[in-house]
Order: sequence, then C-alpha cells, then structure tokens
Amino acid sequence: MRLRSRATPGRRRMLCLWLLLLTLALLMLALSDLLQRDRSIQKPAPPRAPLRRFSAPSQLEVFLDSRDPALELGVDFAPLKSLQEDQLLLVPSAQGTKSAPQRRRSYKVLLPAAAKGTAAARTQTRGEPGTASGAHMHGLHSDMERAALHKYGFNEVVSERISLHRTLPDTRHPECLGEDYSESLPSASVVICFHDEAWSTLLRTVHSVLSTAPKHLQEVLLVDDQSRHGHLKSALSEYVSQMAGVRLIRSTRRLGVGGCRTLGAAKAIGEVLVFMDSHCECQKGWLEPLLERVAQDRTRVVSPIMDVIHWQTFQYNATQWPVRGVFDWRLDFFWESTPQLQHEDPQMAVLPVRSPALGGGVVAIDRHFFQSVGAYDPGMLLWGAEQIEMSIRVWSCGGSMEVVPCSRVAHLSHHHLPYTFPDQDLLERNKIRVADTWMDAYRKIYYRRDTLAHFIKQSESPNITERLRLKKSLGCRNFHWFLSAVYPQLYVPQDRPSLSGELYSVGTGRCADYPSGPGLQGGPMNIAPCSGTGSQHCDLNSEGEVRWGSAGALCLDVEEDRVVLSRCPTHRPTSSRLQWNFIKLSGQLVHQQSQLCVEAVKEGGLLQSGSGSKNSNPSAGGLFLRQCTHLPRQQWHFEQLVAPKGA
Ligand code: UDP
Ligand code: MN
Repeated sequence: MRLRSRATPGRRRMLCLWLLLLTLALLMLALSDLLQRDRSIQKPAPPRAPLRRFSAPSQLEVFLDSRDPALELGVDFAPLKSLQEDQLLLVPSAQGTKSAPQRRRSYKVLLPAAAKGTAAARTQTRGEPGTASGAHMHGLHSDMERAALHKYGFNEVVSERISLHRTLPDTRHPECLGEDYSESLPSASVVICFHDEAWSTLLRTVHSVLSTAPKHLQEVLLVDDQSRHGHLKSALSEYVSQMAGVRLIRSTRRLGVGGCRTLGAAKAIGEVLVFMDSHCECQKGWLEPLLERVAQDRTRVVSPIMDVIHWQTFQYNATQWPVRGVFDWRLDFFWESTPQLQHEDPQMAVLPVRSPALGGGVVAIDRHFFQSVGAYDPGMLLWGAEQIEMSIRVWSCGGSMEVVPCSRVAHLSHHHLPYTFPDQDLLERNKIRVADTWMDAYRKIYYRRDTLAHFIKQSESPNITERLRLKKSLGCRNFHWFLSAVYPQLYVPQDRPSLSGELYSVGTGRCADYPSGPGLQGGPMNIAPCSGTGSQHCDLNSEGEVRWGSAGALCLDVEEDRVVLSRCPTHRPTSSRLQWNFIKLSGQLVHQQSQLCVEAVKEGGLLQSGSGSKNSNPSAGGLFLRQCTHLPRQQWHFEQLVAPKGA
C-alpha cells in the first residue's frame, strides 16, 4: 500500500509499460519454445526429393537409456518407433560459445606415460585385408608413440599430425568415373558408433563423410557407446554442435558394436542406414553407388571396397579388386581378394560381386529391411562375430550381400583392439550364438576347431529362443542351403573319427603346425607344441587329401623332401601328389605318389644322412618325407580334442 501511494502517475505508466513488455517477451519465448518442440517431436519422414539435409547446426546431444524395453527387439519389430524424444535427457547445445574447429588444440589429449591394462589379443573377426596381426612395435619413434599405440591400437601421434580434412587418392577404376546414378537416390543416415575412439580418427571420419557425400546425406549420427576418455565428453559435444548435419547420441550403457548400431538405427531418419566404424576415410563418390544398389533392391545389403589405412604410418593402401567377404569354420571373417579373376571379364571392374559375408567396417542397408530382418542380435556381447551373424541371417532370410567396386572407403587397421573385455571368452560366446542359431548340424565342424567354445558350451547354453523364433517367423532357410547356394567355395570337412584332429607326433610329443591367419598361401609345415585349441586341426578326407586350416583350403603337399602346404585344387579328382594314406596300425602317414613316410624333425634335429636336397636345412625343424621305418619319429595319430558326440 505504501508503495502504491508513493508511486506517481508517470511512474505508474512506466511500470505498466514495462509489465506489458515483459508479458510480451514471455509470450514470444513460450511460443517459440512450443514451435521448436513441435518440430523435434513430429519430425516428418524425410521426403524422397528434394532431400532435406540438416540445415542448421545440430541442436541435440542426447543421452539415451538403452535399457528402454522398446529397444529390446521382439519378433514383430514395432517397438523402435515408440521411442519418444521426451524420454531422453536433453543437454543444451553449447553452440555459439566457442568456435570449435579453431579451438581444436585446446582439446588435445594428454597421453598417459604408461597406459594400464593389457589389450585383448586381436582376432581376425571383423575383417581386414592384410592386417598387421602379429606385427611388431618397431618403427615407433618415441615413448609418446608407444603410449598412443597402447591406448588406441594404432599410432595416434602420427594421426594427430595429419589433417582432419585430408583427401584420399582416387583409386577407383576409370570406368567408375563415367557411371551415372539416379537423381532420386534414397536419403542416408551414416551411423558411427564409437567407444573410446581417438579424437583425430573420429573427427577425420566425420569430416570425410561430410565432404565426400554431400548430396544424399541426411545426417551423420554419432553414437557414443559409453566412452570414458575425456576428449569425447564436452569437447566433442561442443565441436559437433558447430557442424551442420551431425547429431550426437550417448548411450548410458555399454552396448557393444551390434547393440550400439541398433540404437543408432532406432534414432536415424534416413531411408538407408550406413553403419561405419569410427576410424574411416571415404573416397570421393563412395555413397552414390551404394545407395543405387539398395534403391534397386531393398533387401540388398552392400559394402564398399574396404581399403586399408595402416595402423602405424596412416598410409592409405588400395585393396585389389575383386574382393569379397568370407568366413571360415572358426567363424573368423576375412576379405578374400582375387585380382587374377579381373582378366577373365573386363566388365568386372564396375560390377558388384556377390559376397557370402560383409565386414563390419562399412555396411549399407535399407532402414526398414534392417528392422524387419532382425537388426543386430541383441544377445551378442560387446565385440566380434556380429557381422557374421548378420551375413548368414540376411542371406538365409531373403536378402543378399555384395561388394560395390565403384565405392571405396578406407578403414584403419588396428594393431590390437584398444579395449579390454570384462569377459575374455566373449568372442567365443558370440560365435556360439551364431553356431547354435544358424548352423544346424554343421555347428559341430565349428566346435571341433574352437575347443574353447566347445568347453564353454558344455557348461552353459546360450539363450537364443528369441532368435530361433525370428528365424522361424521369417521363414529363413537352413545352413545347408547357405553353403550350397551362397558359399559353395567353402570346403565342408568330413572330420572322420580317427582321421581328423591334431596330427600328433609320437616321437617328438609335438603336433604338426602351420601359422594361422587369412591370406596364407602355404609353405613348409612346422612341428610345434600341441595347442589343444583346435587351431592345428586337420582332416584326412575320402579323397586322400589332408585339409589344413580353418577354411580347409590348404592341402598337405610335398616340395622335394619337405612336407608343405599349398592351396587345394578345386577340381576333382585331386592330384595324386596331394594324396595320403594313414596306416592306423603303424601310425605311418604315407605319401601315395612317392610311397615315402612323413617324419617329424624337431628344430636342430638331425636328418637322415644322404638326403642331399637343397631344401633340407639340418637345423630347421618340420615335416619331411623319408623312407618308411618303424621309428617313433614316423608315428602319428589324429588326436581328437572334442568328443564325437560333442556340441
Ligand atoms: N565399438 C563400440 N562399442 C564397443 C566396441 C566397439 O561402439 O563396445 C565401435 C568402435 O569404436 C568401432 C566399431 O564399433 O567404431 C567397431 O569396432 P572396432 O573398430 O574396434 O572393430 P574392428 O574394426 O577392429 O574389427
Ligand atoms: Mn574398425
């Protein structure tokens, strides 16, 4: 009252004016907020043409609780739509506070002097042509580089020195440059999941996508799979908020490769999903050829040719065409490049090649097809074999896969995986899911070659009920069909009892051995301690061939007096040079053509006098052909590691 009585009429008018202005301002704020929210909730499905790429800088960094039951895929695949924006925690954009790209140096990560923990041994599962598995750390120039390698699995110090905007040399076939693509290609969401990725490699990936695929790109969707590294927190949010067309989602739970991609797919709005690893560099024109193939057939799942960025030098290496993705009986994935086939058909340079499997590095799939065919198996743990599961499923349940040669993306090969797993058997557990869900009786072939998986399986069974239901509801074909229609080149071992297993030498107490890994074309057989893991498994088949390796593609052969491995012929009957006879009673393994016996020689062991061959290095161990005797050095047996009834 006192206040009021003290107010003069002039003051009162001023007060009224202020109040009016304030009300107006509040009204406008509320209105704009309402409009904004409306826009984000009712995001319309992107029209086919003209394409609306994100025009404004991205507004949202979203934390997502992926425990949402909507994300647990059932067989009807409806639930993903029910994810509401208002269930998510929105973090205000830092837009405008800093100019991110210029502040780049301030985000520089200080590398710890010695990173702790050992990284999980790298297995060849997600695929890399010519990866550096088993490579040494030589060539690293400083402690910094060694620490970076330890932390990331590649030389991040070198990566830091390379521009985030570098362009790759164009290695496409000249024929590709004249290709025309439809004007109305579907829109694409590039989904990039990352867990503790280095700054330079992650951002180079994003910039590379933005600068090479401007036309049909709906968005780049970054999905943080609960990274712990500091530079991936607010610094990344800030940086991303400055970039048009890029969104960032963060999972509040560690999902692993497949789970993270499924989450990204649920939030993506493009018609075609392109899953991409967080350390890739795209070549000019990579996206159009992929979109065109998917647009022509929505059940087609496609991959570019995956070129290789070297983990140590960051040099770019083009992969030779034709290349396709395959896997072996240990369920390890690899790219198989067969340049010699190029000469057979010059048209081949631009024609896509059917591929029994695709690697995880980059894969494009129609968004609806991805959901209807079962996304990624939600039962799969963090890393490994998820692309093999998807490959068998896509083929068996009505889709197809191919590599498109006019599209090239380079993927950084790791020296080792940069993260450790709480469960060291996790890769085996993932493979067990693949075997039990998709391989029917053929799974036994897998279990014989992966004894760790066999023993895990003895004590626990995976819960694959949902996946089996999915398989049934989609009317998927069996593995026998897959082998004969899609991947007839995969040798199907016979694994006859007492004629398959580790080839155990009685005289030396060791086993026949050969380094494992893709791309090995053969060479001298070794003798080494028995591994017991299934990695030394071989199979004497009814043709008389001794098939070696997880794909059974290498055959026991002879070169002068040395027992070697060479690529098995594809024709029948097999060459007599590759035929062997096992005499169970004496344990002798006889080379049919020469009637000589296989003898085990330990390193430094003495060879029979008079061998006189230039291949015979007296100090080298290995398997040699000798006149048959009854010496223990010529006694063998096939040690079966997994009981025949097993699995
Ligand atoms: N990744 C993830 N969560 C994980 C493990 C991996 O999001 O738990 C991401 C990782 O950052 C990468 C992709 O998934 O972008 C594939 O992993 P990685 O590159 O390590 O596999 P590789 O290519 O070596 O087989
Ligand atoms: Mn990768």
